[in-house]
Amino acid sequence: MDIADLRDRILKQDRRALARAITLVESARPDHRAQATALLDELSKAGKQSLRIGLSGTPGVGKSTFIESFGMMLTAQGLRVAVLAVDPSSARSGGSILGDKTRMERLSRDRNAFIRPSPSQTHLGGVARRTREAVALCEAAGFDVVLIETVGVGQSETVVAEMSDLFLLLLAPAGGDELQGVKRGIMEMADVILVNKADGDLKATAMRTCADYAGALRLLRKRPQDPEGFPKAMTVSALEKNGLATAWGEMKALTTWRKEEGHWTYRRAAQAQFWFHEEVKQGMLARLGQGEAPRQLAHFDAKVATGELSPGQAAKEMLDHLS
Ligand code: GDP
Repeated sequence: MDIADLRDRILKQDRRALARAITLVESARPDHRAQATALLDELSKAGKQSLRIGLSGTPGVGKSTFIESFGMMLTAQGLRVAVLAVDPSSARSGGSILGDKTRMERLSRDRNAFIRPSPSQTHLGGVARRTREAVALCEAAGFDVVLIETVGVGQSETVVAEMSDLFLLLLAPAGGDELQGVKRGIMEMADVILVNKADGDLKATAMRTCADYAGALRLLRKRPQDPEGFPKAMTVSALEKNGLATAWGEMKALTTWRKEEGHWTYRRAAQAQFWFHEEVKQGMLARLGQGEAPRQLAHFDAKVATGELSPGQAAKEMLDHLS
């Protein structure tokens, strides 16, 4: 594959080149890996940045409806929007949360939108890297907004938050005790909580739910990256397209403030370091399966089993030996 050509075409916003490059970063083949790394390195020199918006919510809360309505609103403003997904459950279900063709049908036909289904994956580490690299490719391809969607399971929110500039939590209208169902750690990641389905019979409940969450957000510890009034809870109706423009206005205001105050740059740098450390850890782990490491593991396993060495001592000796 001609990496220089692929790079040039991505920088010229060629969607087919972008799709090909994403396939390349999704490949586990070592030669593809090397090409992907070289490509990403080249593209990062262009220094293009999108607004990366993470979006989490349980199945049925209205994520795809929201992304379609919100995405169409943005493209109507002339913005280019990419949609990616982190879907750790796809390996189990055999499908992908964006694989269903009927989802976001109108947005997927929009020339200013690019929707990429999530690859089926077995472990979150792999999904994280692929998604992060797909985000970087979309940024290089000049998308103004990259939406990264995840279903609220396991660690996927953390992964998405670590590759987003803004994190949205989409919730459904519900009774009061439902508030307990949202884990505190996930609330703490949110910049904006959107209570969806604020329409028809559900409107009053949605407004009450929103007030409950607004109250809960006020109780959280203040974060340095938040101006007065953030994190914020709002109601929207993805179906009736209500509240979307207001929500976008808040996201833009928050982004502008963070850029002016230096939080944007700081956070991007911290995220780059986080992923660098993750890559090093993954690489170290991979090495345990290579070279003489498996033999060493077996050797020390036997000594640990008989009590000849303590687990700590065995680990120290093995690590000393390997380095
Ligand atoms: P996802 O699983 O989170 O992607 O949720 P979907 O977007 O597929 O929506 C699940 C169901 O909720 C569908 O039947 C939607 O029509 C419905 N829904 C989504 N947004 C709204 C909304 O704003 N109002 C109402 N009343 N229903 C909605």
